Amino acid sequence: MGDGADTGAHAVPKALARLGLKTDQDLLLHLPLRYLDLTRLTPIAELDAGIDAQVEGLIRRSEVSGRGRRTLICELDDGSARLTLRFFHFYPSQLAQLAAGKRVRAYGNVRGGLFGLEMVHPSVRPATPGRLPTALTPVYPAAAGIGQALLRRAIEGALARMHWPETIPEDVCARLGLMPIEQAIRLLHAPPPGVDAVAIEDRTHPAWQRIVFDELLAQQLSLRMARAQRDAMTSTVLGATTLAERLRATLPFQLTGAQRRAWREIASDLAQAHPMNRLLLGDVGSGKTVVAALAALVAIGSGRQVALMAPTEILAEQHFRKLTGWLQPLGARIAWLAGSLRESDKQRTRQAIAAGEADLAIGTHALIEDVVDFERLGLAIVDEQHRFGVAQRLALRGRTAGAHVPHQLMMSATPIPRTLAMTYYADLDVSVIDESPPGRLPVVTKLVSESRRAEVVARVRDAVATGRQAYWVCPLIEESEALQLKTATETFEALAGELAGLRVGLVHGRLGPQEKATVMQEFAAGRIQVLVATTVIEVGVDVPNASLMVIEHAERFGLAQLHQLRGRVGRGAAESVCVLLYRNPLSEGARERLRISYESGAGVEIARRDLQLRGPGEFLGARQSGEPLLRFAELERDAALVPAARELAAAMLAHHPRRVEAHLARWLAGRTEFLKA
Ligand code: ADP
Ligand code: MG
Repeated sequence: MGDGADTGAHAVPKALARLGLKTDQDLLLHLPLRYLDLTRLTPIAELDAGIDAQVEGLIRRSEVSGRGRRTLICELDDGSARLTLRFFHFYPSQLAQLAAGKRVRAYGNVRGGLFGLEMVHPSVRPATPGRLPTALTPVYPAAAGIGQALLRRAIEGALARMHWPETIPEDVCARLGLMPIEQAIRLLHAPPPGVDAVAIEDRTHPAWQRIVFDELLAQQLSLRMARAQRDAMTSTVLGATTLAERLRATLPFQLTGAQRRAWREIASDLAQAHPMNRLLLGDVGSGKTVVAALAALVAIGSGRQVALMAPTEILAEQHFRKLTGWLQPLGARIAWLAGSLRESDKQRTRQAIAAGEADLAIGTHALIEDVVDFERLGLAIVDEQHRFGVAQRLALRGRTAGAHVPHQLMMSATPIPRTLAMTYYADLDVSVIDESPPGRLPVVTKLVSESRRAEVVARVRDAVATGRQAYWVCPLIEESEALQLKTATETFEALAGELAGLRVGLVHGRLGPQEKATVMQEFAAGRIQVLVATTVIEVGVDVPNASLMVIEHAERFGLAQLHQLRGRVGRGAAESVCVLLYRNPLSEGARERLRISYESGAGVEIARRDLQLRGPGEFLGARQSGEPLLRFAELERDAALVPAARELAAAMLAHHPRRVEAHLARWLAGRTEFLKA
């Protein structure tokens, strides 16, 4: 691999590591955000307001005006006309550089001022005689302390040393009209004047298309390789049992069509001798748990153990109760393993799991602590999988003594579009539950200003009077857990006063797991009528009789978070209401989030909008799960390139293994772990 070999030889400045730039390869793929055109000078007389331009001339006048907030005003004369340069803050060195009589070059945006055209804060340098640059000047993503000059120098060095042999066979490049990779990289770092700037900006330029194609190809290659690796592993065939059918027969409801479809897909995976790796996607309340229960029964009925891991103790506890109700009557032995257990109880539970005396272990992260080993784990289920990091998800699968790799089922209510899920989570099959159980009325969302809080409190009282229950979600304080606790306690005390006579409870993140569980049980049993809560109830909590939710300071919550919270109501037959209490003034972003929440009840639509607002990385929790697979490609824009990349990936794997290796080293260096989860 020629390109991999010669990258280490040149030390990249240490400071750049903060931008993730460690090798020449990193530098070459650190592509500009935009460009400055310093290749020509525009006569001042030809300037128009609104354009970016470079001018050169003599400083005729330079003066600092104003008291308090001082302004530096210079008059630049190039013989064709005069232009005002205006600086609202400046250094003594700039005063000297811009003194009357100096010749300077200024680059900036031209605007119409009170006394003719001007530039505000142009970048200025002394006018050195001689030539202008022959290429556009790149502006790179930078960081504090890492300036453009440092980046440009480092990248110029990398460009001078660049040797990137083609990884795509030449005949394919020709057939697909792909620009050679070296040419594409060089062009993007230093576009010649006259280049189609619009095409570069919207990334439809052939140079960008080549970058995107290479990245999509790397993704397709890694998908196929991960799939091949998985197919080479052996798992236990699960399926010869009637337990799942017996549960279905006793359920008080019929599965929806979407649940049946997802269940068929899962059952057919479990019947394979290779590990399943499937994501079950379904909006909050769509009924994923029962599908997971069916899968668990198939494994148990086939003589294997099952692990079910959830991100919070509240959620794990709820699964424990629900699954005990469903599975115990069928003879399944269920173990509970959470961090809050006494050490001796944990010990006993672990021993039971290791001895194969528990069929199903339900718990939190405690399940993947080193000391838990299953005797014969056949299926690992991870609920709210986006809450876990890649390593944690993989760890559960590795917790078995047997030689067989467990099947894995992940669940998520983050309703990402299916294609996006498959792209971001690499080797993953996806089942979607896109239908909610019958009889559910959509949750009615209301936007209410804080000034009408008293009416909202009265509404809570009414709801309780008719036998319903309510959630009251406290304002979110992201900066500090201590402040969050204080706010939660104050909100609780205030409401308990306002709702005197009602049974009001409080649950927050600082409560011990046992206390939390007790409060949740009281609420589920109807003994608590109004539950004041922090976002600990965001995930998975299921109390069908709760039909009213008030979210205080809703403007502080993210879109997905609001959607998750709102999903806690609308679980029973009664019409549910979610009141978003907000306080003016609203920022533009907050206004937009509230509007979308108000207008749309569908998770998929929310997800689409959220994706637009925040971008896929953050949305999918990429921060906790490693770098996203795609840096340059955008599925919507570049969809047309995918089929060719897919086809080429298959052909390269069959005929050009060395090229495959080189291509992956170039594009996915260090990100292989991501592919498995
Ligand atoms: P989620 O997908 O958010 O995890 P749950 O599995 O908690 O949703 O299901 C929400 C509620 O709907 C639960 O009370 C569950 O028992 C119930 N439920 C699931 N499937 C159906 C169905 N087909 N018909 C009626 N109720 C259902
Ligand atoms: Mg759930």
